[in-house]
Amino acid sequence: MASEAFVQMLREMAFLAEMKGENPFKVRALQNVADLLEEDSRSLAMLVASGEIGKIAGVGKGSQALAKEFVQTGSTGEYEELKKLFPPTIFELRKVPGLGPKKSKALFEQLSIGSLAELEYACQENRLVDLKGFGEKTQTNILKSIARLKGYKGKVILPMALQESALVQAQLAALPGVEAVSETGELRRRCEVIGSLDFVLQGNGKIPASLEAAGYALAPDHSYQASSENGLKVRAWISPASAFGSTLLTTTGPAAYVENLGPLPASPSEEKIFQAKQLDFLPPECRDLGHAPTGLVEVDDIRGVFHLHTKWSDGKNTLEEMVQAALERNLEYLGVSEHSQTAFYAHGLNEARVLEQRREIDALQEKYPSLRIFQGIESDILADGSLDFPQEFLAHFDFVIASVHGQMKMSRDDMTKRLCRALENPATTWLGHWSGRLLLGREAYDFDQEAVLATAAKCGKSIELNANPYRLDIDWRLLPRAQALGIPIGIFPDAHSAEGLDDVKYGLWMARKAGLRREDVVNTKTRQEMEAWLENR
Ligand SMILES: [Zn+2]
Ligand SMILES: [Zn+2]
Repeated sequence: MASEAFVQMLREMAFLAEMKGENPFKVRALQNVADLLEEDSRSLAMLVASGEIGKIAGVGKGSQALAKEFVQTGSTGEYEELKKLFPPTIFELRKVPGLGPKKSKALFEQLSIGSLAELEYACQENRLVDLKGFGEKTQTNILKSIARLKGYKGKVILPMALQESALVQAQLAALPGVEAVSETGELRRRCEVIGSLDFVLQGNGKIPASLEAAGYALAPDHSYQASSENGLKVRAWISPASAFGSTLLTTTGPAAYVENLGPLPASPSEEKIFQAKQLDFLPPECRDLGHAPTGLVEVDDIRGVFHLHTKWSDGKNTLEEMVQAALERNLEYLGVSEHSQTAFYAHGLNEARVLEQRREIDALQEKYPSLRIFQGIESDILADGSLDFPQEFLAHFDFVIASVHGQMKMSRDDMTKRLCRALENPATTWLGHWSGRLLLGREAYDFDQEAVLATAAKCGKSIELNANPYRLDIDWRLLPRAQALGIPIGIFPDAHSAEGLDDVKYGLWMARKAGLRREDVVNTKTRQEMEAWLENR
């Protein structure tokens, strides 16, 4: 190849030029030159210096100038200008099979998707289903490709790790010599992002040979390590039955917590160690915090959920299907919150459609009296902090979740003011997905978190712990602070499908990691208590 870097730049230029909507002949020419130089074994510097480059059929004047500039400066002005039009993550989209510049252009222009993480999230929220040239099948395929691409980066979000871990655990349990397997480490602590799947194995002396035959190798930390099918690191520690509990405790971690416990006796069970130390058993997910309060919130405490989307905006299921799914899950109440009018890409509701939906809710309420259905809205927080409907109209809703969905890049000061203003709005019930982060994807927007917490406390507002496993936002590490300020937390699924309701469990784990008690979580209220609480706001 004449120059790998130059060829790559030409391909990226062609991609960006097409994204920008430049003349197709120009795009084609850039690709052609990249193809020609890829096949040419002479060096680019020599081709330029000797003028030979002008003799290659298909390399025009424009491309020759690019080559000359590249040899001199290592880049070209035109390329640098093109790059300024898009986020630096835009090239990630090229890695997805079947996603050429045309499709990438549609995604960027219509849905503001400029990175793999944003694409993944949009797929989760069904945004591609109705997009011209895409559809449900394409969306499914894109999600599969992204899962493969991400697997190799070595870290995954919790549900993917759980899925993968179940497979690996079954394989380990089937190895000759293995009598028992327990998950341990980050996964056992239900961390929101997982870097390795860890296990403790108990059994006889055949285990090392079995592990080696299965492709594991002994590492300096005394674990046997391999890579899972999706490229995650797997670690397995072997323990005799007499020390199973102590090995489990040590490998579960985190290191700081284990160190604090002091010297540990070898023991067959963790419970026995806690007893010997005269401590209450601490659930693994609470060990990052290091302690747990009495009345730690439990999964059965959750009586109902808010924040879900139906076919009225960008959900997969009808409202009635969501109602049935809630009844199957023994919930006492359900709060529907479609997107608001500004979120046109998600079929946000205008005033007329809100009123139309109210009629459907009234009819469903009559048909399913055992579930209380609340009508709310997930209102966009506009750039100035105001909500997406006139103040009088907001009074139509039983509750309002105020969320940021656009214009996330503003100064720290402006974003802080924007969020505080949304909380000060008397219509706001919850502040939705606190920081806008997507785990392993998009950074949180920059704002003064302490100031926003203080405003929530001052205005008596509640904050959502968004349980979508890509978000888990507000970060659980901030929850003890919210708890100290007396801010009630709502653990909501942000469900875009019936199965999405089950995401509440991820939020619940985060709440437990933060040491939230039943009374800190609003949706542990009974139906009557919730009706009264919303009435009083
Ligand atoms: Zn949202
Ligand atoms: Zn939502």
